[in-house]
Amino acid sequence: MVIARLYDLDKDDHPKYDGNEFGTIQVFQCEACGALTNRVKIQKSRLTTYRVTICPNGHHCWHHEIENFLKRLKETHPKSYLNACKREIKALRRQHVKDIKNDLVGEPDMKCVVVRSLFETPRRCKHGLV
Ligand SMILES: [Zn+2]
Ligand SMILES: [Zn+2]
Repeated sequence: MVIARLYDLDKDDHPKYDGNEFGTIQVFQCEACGALTNRVKIQKSRLTTYRVTICPNGHHCWHHEIENFLKRLKETHPKSYLNACKREIKALRRQHVKDIKNDLVGEPDMKCVVVRSLFETPRRCKHGLV
């Protein structure tokens, strides 16, 4: 895909048709692996049109494992268990540091980074069932 220009999401003047894909001035950082991306895709459901940003590494199973640990962190668990989850996340990130790729197009504003869950759903591998 050739990106002709970057759009400012605050101005809301970006393409709005189903399947449209474009780069944005804003940068999104994946909550799971820390990768950066500024690609946005428009998707339409029956009632609404929405913008999706997906982590460029989100199709890997190690990524799903990190997502599952992140999910645990948002639940109520004993502190020792939560700490163990944090350690697992760190270890997985370290183990896959070479696989964590950014997906930046053009020259976005690197001062404008938003951390988000950039996870795809649903998923066909076993991690989607957890
Ligand atoms: Zn990620
Ligand atoms: Zn998986």
